[in-house]
Amino acid sequence: MKIIDAHMHYYEIEGFHTAAKAAGHENTAGHYSGICAENGIVFSVAMGNSEGETSLFGGSTPRVPNLARKFDFASFNQPADIGYCCGVKSDELTPANAEKTASEFERYVKTPHCVGIKLYPGYRHVYAHDPVHYPLFELARHYDLPVVIHTGDTSNSAAILKYAHPLTVDELAVRYSDVRFVLAHCGNPWIVDAVAVADKNDNVFIDLSGLAAGNFETESFYSAHRAYYEHIAMWLDYMGKYEKVMYGSDWPLVNIQNYIGLIGKIIPKDKHRAVFYENALKVFPKIAPLL
Ligand SMILES: [Zn+2]
Repeated sequence: MKIIDAHMHYYEIEGFHTAAKAAGHENTAGHYSGICAENGIVFSVAMGNSEGETSLFGGSTPRVPNLARKFDFASFNQPADIGYCCGVKSDELTPANAEKTASEFERYVKTPHCVGIKLYPGYRHVYAHDPVHYPLFELARHYDLPVVIHTGDTSNSAAILKYAHPLTVDELAVRYSDVRFVLAHCGNPWIVDAVAVADKNDNVFIDLSGLAAGNFETESFYSAHRAYYEHIAMWLDYMGKYEKVMYGSDWPLVNIQNYIGLIGKIIPKDKHRAVFYENALKVFPKIAPLL
């Protein structure tokens, strides 16, 4: 089966090396490309992250105001089969600099591998629907890029959950009805709320990344956590719109082969091709020319 991973991380911090080991992986470019070859992953979308990280691409990532991930084009060695979403440091946005920030982002958005924009409302303590983001949404509309929004629980306790609730995306989806929004992690554990927002709004989609971490044997893990995975499957079935759902892994946090198996169990077999591959091509139109 051909797969597009619509949500992974491709950068270097100490925590990711530890997490990768716990998942049975190495957080290196070489290991990742081997994993993709073994599992039929033909393209991946890397989520932008905090400034100062070292990219696994080998390029340095110097700092730009408001841009969570800055690429040095001179030394940046972009793999052909990995795109990225520009991360936004929303807490540094102000009404005064929001327009200027969007024009800085435009430089990246125009490059072939920038396939979307990423917001982190919970980590940055700024609602996705805050007007400081409006110029970025206009940029997304102009270049036909989706805006991926971290929704649901967070990896550190400095984050504030109210900003990360999937219901906060509803207002945004109405206001920008011609921009596509992706609820990362299906709003976990607010699965029902994420499904409600995606079901109601034609322009809202869901990625299934981050619904397990580490390494496990798929069948026994599923059995041990059956109630949780059946809950997710039930609400996706309730929505009945599998064209809105995309596979994503959150690599390097989970074992890729076993996670593909796990997600395969909560998605009906006849929807696998859509969820694991086709839907990402529609949500991220810039992927197709890169394949
Ligand atoms: Zn993630």
